[in-house]
Amino acid sequence: MTEAAYDTDNIFAKILRGEIPSHRVYEDEAVIAFMDVMPQGPGHTLVVPKVPSRNLLDADPSIFGPLFTVVQRIAQAVKKAFSADGVTVMQFNEPASGQTVYHLHVHVIPRFNGVPLKPHTGEMEKSEVLAENAGKIRAALTTN
Ligand code: AMP
Repeated sequence: MTEAAYDTDNIFAKILRGEIPSHRVYEDEAVIAFMDVMPQGPGHTLVVPKVPSRNLLDADPSIFGPLFTVVQRIAQAVKKAFSADGVTVMQFNEPASGQTVYHLHVHVIPRFNGVPLKPHTGEMEKSEVLAENAGKIRAALTTN
């Protein structure tokens, strides 16, 4: 089956162009990371390559090195920032898998023993809480 084309007006493309706000925790020439607005747990962060692709299926594999280098750094930072017991890394491809935003991204979620994840795309978190959590992750990144 042929997948849909990349939509340049998807929400992460708008965040990348600075047209809508985000709580950014990291940026380099190839990748940005910002807080998920409907977190499945405190500190839920999205790691997003700047180069456009709909998801992993159509991505140029040359991005995976830079992308997963940042995924690892963010995973280490959220574990430290939230004193987490572990970290879940997730990535969805096409609607059947649960993908809702069609620009490649990786979810990085701190995990705590015995605490289940909240539902995917559940409740919006308050902007103040996201800002505070972003600050904790930025602080952990600078001391890593
Ligand atoms: P996926 O289902 O893997 O495509 O995940 C998309 C994620 O993007 C969900 O976890 C949403 O909560 C999140 N999301 C949607 N809109 C925004 C936004 N404007 N800023 C940050 N995260 C968003």
